[in-house]
Amino acid sequence: MKKRLTPGDQTKTTHLGRRPDLFHGSVNPPVYHTSTILFPTMKEFEASYTRRADFGQLRYGRVGTPTSFAFEEAIAQLEGGHASIVVPSGLSAATTAMLAFLNSGDHLLMTDSAYYPTRRYCESLLSRMGVDTTYYDPLAGSNIEQLIKPNTRVIFLESPGSLTFEVQDVPAITKVAKEYGIKVILDNTWATPLLFKSFEHGVDVSIHAATKYIVGHADAMLGVMVANQESFQTLQMCAHQCGLCAGPDDIYLGLRGLRTLAVRLTQHHQQALSIIEWLSNRPEVARILYPALPDDPGYRMWQRDFLGACGLFGLVLNEFPKHAVANMLDGMKLFKMGASWGGFESLIIPAYPAKFRIAPPWQAEGPLLRLHAGLEDVQDLISDLEQGFVRLNATA
Ligand SMILES: *Cc1c(COP(=O)(O)O)cnc(C)c1O
Repeated sequence: MKKRLTPGDQTKTTHLGRRPDLFHGSVNPPVYHTSTILFPTMKEFEASYTRRADFGQLRYGRVGTPTSFAFEEAIAQLEGGHASIVVPSGLSAATTAMLAFLNSGDHLLMTDSAYYPTRRYCESLLSRMGVDTTYYDPLAGSNIEQLIKPNTRVIFLESPGSLTFEVQDVPAITKVAKEYGIKVILDNTWATPLLFKSFEHGVDVSIHAATKYIVGHADAMLGVMVANQESFQTLQMCAHQCGLCAGPDDIYLGLRGLRTLAVRLTQHHQQALSIIEWLSNRPEVARILYPALPDDPGYRMWQRDFLGACGLFGLVLNEFPKHAVANMLDGMKLFKMGASWGGFESLIIPAYPAKFRIAPPWQAEGPLLRLHAGLEDVQDLISDLEQGFVRLNATA
């Protein structure tokens, strides 16, 4: 079945957060480079501390500018949250969201499929602060109830996992969490605010590495946390207390990326499908990890909950020695090696989930590669992979 965006979302991505009336008719909000905001009287200076800063009323650069307000308003409305907070990176969005709701002595349930640095934060900083983490099987669904302890305060999800692509049963997990008064935080980076509507599925806080598809051009680091009404204030206070603020140029790049997000995602999805169709007939390939494929274990849930797919997927090869994989990757012409994804360019990296997965341990036929299908001519991308397989076989 073909997927469709929520009606109106394409219009929203082009219009939200724009206020030409405030900026001399300018289509885009200007980039505000500012720290100090000047007030003409003592009365107005003092009043600025007792109201919330917004588009029309600034207080201090760190607590928001018209550039950040525009971005925050657009993202929150697109995902259907109450409000959002822009932060300097996707990782800071994940860590700040956890910090906001966890105290010393609390227990955290973390999906075993989480982005590795998110995991490292739990094992280092949160552990040092007296927060205990249990990793759960991303496919646990409502069985997550068995892992809840009296001090469990947060369940963290990442769906699909950005390395291993398990789709989580978000509604089942949020239903259990609500019964126990536990906050649910979702890393929604793969789907963006367009393809998974977190708040319709009971999530309290959705976080994004805007660095990926929202910025979309591999030229800025940016994160955003979107919250429901009940969670927003706690989250905003934590971000303000930590002194987090993203740079105005980077936020602007996020806003600019947002304008073309819908068309880019549609194209990335198409590119991924064409590449996967070719890959699935290759003898080197054991499995493809991409929930938008009918034979993927996550397909039914993806069909039920998502409005589309992006260009990021996993490729499990049959058994090949590491040096053969290196020979394949070293010679790639278009698929380049490097961290991140969501830009216009194609990427390929080797990944080793067996090194840290415990619930359950990672098992696969052979090496895992993670691919990002960029916006190049898809035949050129396929030829690049075809040449790669020649090198893979030559050294096997
Ligand atoms: C990249 C990524 C992050 C971290 O984002 P940065 O902007 O690089 O800090 C978090 N979660 C997921 C799923 C990611 O892919």
